Amino acid sequence: MLLRHTPDTIIEREALTVQPAKTCQPVGAMYAALGIHRCLPHSHGSQGCCAYHRSSLTRHYKEPVMAGTSSFTEGASVFGGQANLLEAITNIFTLYNPDVLAIHTTCLSETIGDDVPQIVAKAREEGRVPEGKYIIRASTPSYIGSHVIGYANMVKGIVEGFSERGKTGRHVNIIPGFVEPPDMAEIKRLAKLTGIDPVLLTDTSGVLNGPQTGHYEMYPKGGTTIDNLKRTGYAKATIALGPIASGLGAKFIDTKYGVPCETLNLPIGIRATDKFVEALKRLGGVIDDEIEYERGQLMDAVTDMQQYFYQKKVALVGDPDQLVSFTEFLTDLGFSVRHVITGTPGKKFVGRIKDAAGTDQINVREASDYFYLHQLIKNEKVDLIIGNTYAKYISRDMDIPLVRTGFPIYDRIGHQYFPTVGYKGALLLIEKILGVLMDHQDRYCPEEQFELVM
Ligand code: SF4
Repeated sequence: MLLRHTPDTIIEREALTVQPAKTCQPVGAMYAALGIHRCLPHSHGSQGCCAYHRSSLTRHYKEPVMAGTSSFTEGASVFGGQANLLEAITNIFTLYNPDVLAIHTTCLSETIGDDVPQIVAKAREEGRVPEGKYIIRASTPSYIGSHVIGYANMVKGIVEGFSERGKTGRHVNIIPGFVEPPDMAEIKRLAKLTGIDPVLLTDTSGVLNGPQTGHYEMYPKGGTTIDNLKRTGYAKATIALGPIASGLGAKFIDTKYGVPCETLNLPIGIRATDKFVEALKRLGGVIDDEIEYERGQLMDAVTDMQQYFYQKKVALVGDPDQLVSFTEFLTDLGFSVRHVITGTPGKKFVGRIKDAAGTDQINVREASDYFYLHQLIKNEKVDLIIGNTYAKYISRDMDIPLVRTGFPIYDRIGHQYFPTVGYKGALLLIEKILGVLMDHQDRYCPEEQFELVM
């Protein structure tokens, strides 16, 4: 049996992580960059790093994710990667013709101290960057933070690179956080229904979940355009969804361009979506009947099904912004949230989760790992686990149903197409959660309790 050696006894560890509940910064940076129309991400480091970042995203989205690499060898590791990056810039614009090249660093290039802004300036001086093409960059050392921090750093790099001053417009910037392409589409849809012209920073819908057309397109139709990215500097406001993934970029636009920002929790669940819709209404002025109808449907489902959720114990693992909203939503549904683990470091995480759960009596840890989560569950078993694919080992070992959400999901589909955010997303989540709980009950209940009707 997998994980059979995980002991029940918890010994505090400081210098050892076993199965971290996160991935590395450049994965998030690459994801944010893919949300720009005609953008090619570029990994300034070794080929192995880039292969890992690309394969993580490719396996999750079941789409070919393209990116360049500076292909460090031993020489670049010792003498610096300037020559490699200069050559890469020339080759990429000549061969692949992106409109934007989004460079992120890796552990290696950060450790040897490559000065990427200086290298990019040199590339421009030497005429390696064609007219009308752009290079943006973010520093993403993976020995600190996680993919969520990498996403935040690249979003800041994007606004640093593109935002311009201008007469305040009617459009609103929305930084959606490291959420799925259908979540971004849903966020845009809700914004438009409240009368807002949204500019998403950035938007992977239509990039990583596009249709099968029979021919390969290196740069799909989706993604935020350069013109829209430039407009972010004179938007009416910025809404940052999730302080960890989206706060940095929103604060930058506020500080540099005076665009006021409001940071909300990710709109997962009833309360968080209510707050998002209220913020949209304040900026857009209307609430379409469609939104009220969707909320009503959600409330109907919650009322009908709450008996199946009441006091069920649940463990959560994933990214901090998602976990806060999940905790709040599941608590509202009547669940007892028992264990919450993220691999992303952040001092405020524990307090945010306890606030969302409305209790201190909950096991919460940041910068943590699956090994610890498994130990917690061995000490206090739960009825349900919500997390990404890596949680399936604990789910199997403990025979606990798993609902897959977050990043990465390598062994199922659906996350590319169906939202988790908004009222519709909450309804889909309820359907998923109820499905696994009922399947488990049908499989294990005594024959005399095996019912045809719920
Ligand atoms: S070396 Fe660093 S950047 Fe490269 S894959 Fe590993 S953690 Fe990520």
